[in-house]
Amino acid sequence: MSILCVGSVALDSVETPFAKAERVIGGSATYFTSAATLFSPVQMVGVVGDDYPLEKLAFLKERGADLSGIEQRPGESFFWAGKYHFDLNTRDTLETRLGVFADFDPVIPEALRASKYVFLGNIDPTLQHDVLDQVESPEVVACDTMNYWIEGKRSELNSLLERVQILLVNDEEARQLADEPNLLKASRWIRERGPEIVIVKKGEHGAILFADGWQFFVPGFPLEAVFDPTGAGDAFAGGFMGSLAQAGDLDRASLQRAMVFGSVMGSFTVERFSVDRLVDLTREEIDGRLRQFHAMTAFETQLEAV
Ligand code: AMP
Repeated sequence: MSILCVGSVALDSVETPFAKAERVIGGSATYFTSAATLFSPVQMVGVVGDDYPLEKLAFLKERGADLSGIEQRPGESFFWAGKYHFDLNTRDTLETRLGVFADFDPVIPEALRASKYVFLGNIDPTLQHDVLDQVESPEVVACDTMNYWIEGKRSELNSLLERVQILLVNDEEARQLADEPNLLKASRWIRERGPEIVIVKKGEHGAILFADGWQFFVPGFPLEAVFDPTGAGDAFAGGFMGSLAQAGDLDRASLQRAMVFGSVMGSFTVERFSVDRLVDLTREEIDGRLRQFHAMTAFETQLEAV
């Protein structure tokens, strides 16, 4: 099953305590598609300015992504600059320039309107609504957002929740959205507003899936060298949705496996700047890390003896 993905297609300047990258390719849709195409075909929708090095997205085409929904317009591409703190878990946004995204009016190509799997990457919630308005009968809509939009577009975001099945946010965003410090309560607050499933990402500590009457935890893969955490959340979403679309259902086992593939893809992403680590990542490497996850988390027990 293929996935329609809309999100930012950005240029990022990133600074970590150890290194720096200027105007490298990034954005929620770019990271998502780089990860998801290793599992399922993706159709990407977004806008870039005339400063965007589109040739750097060629590897996605080779992996079966349809980039016909990326419009190029005169003007500046979406630009984001961030600086990571010493622990690499927290960052400050130094600058966000919407550029051509400021008056982006997403038009979903006719052929993509029948999409059943939709990922609304982190962009203005008004645009996320516009995209959904054009998709005929989506079956699985997953959505991401961030503090920038929770602060600036709260009512649009609240009404969007009614239209999505899966919300992916980080712990800070979940707390901010629900105005509730406890994550169990915050995820319940969100689930009561629409999404059946809430996934709370916790950076290097992994992620938790909250569903009706059950939860599932996946750790972050322990890495000795984290290079650049940018995009880990979007790559998590890409691995998660890619695996889910490949399964073709929302059964508990499919959701659990998708969570582990999400964490696998997030862990590869942070090993290099930009999408560099995902460009020639192989299915063998992914499956190898999946097996390591299994070895690290599975254990035998005889419950009656505990
Ligand atoms: P993540 O590290 O998963 O939160 O994703 C980082 C990516 O999100 C970067 O590549 C940025 O270009 C993009 N980004 C940052 N701020 C925004 C925003 N306000 N709207 C859309 N995309 C953004």
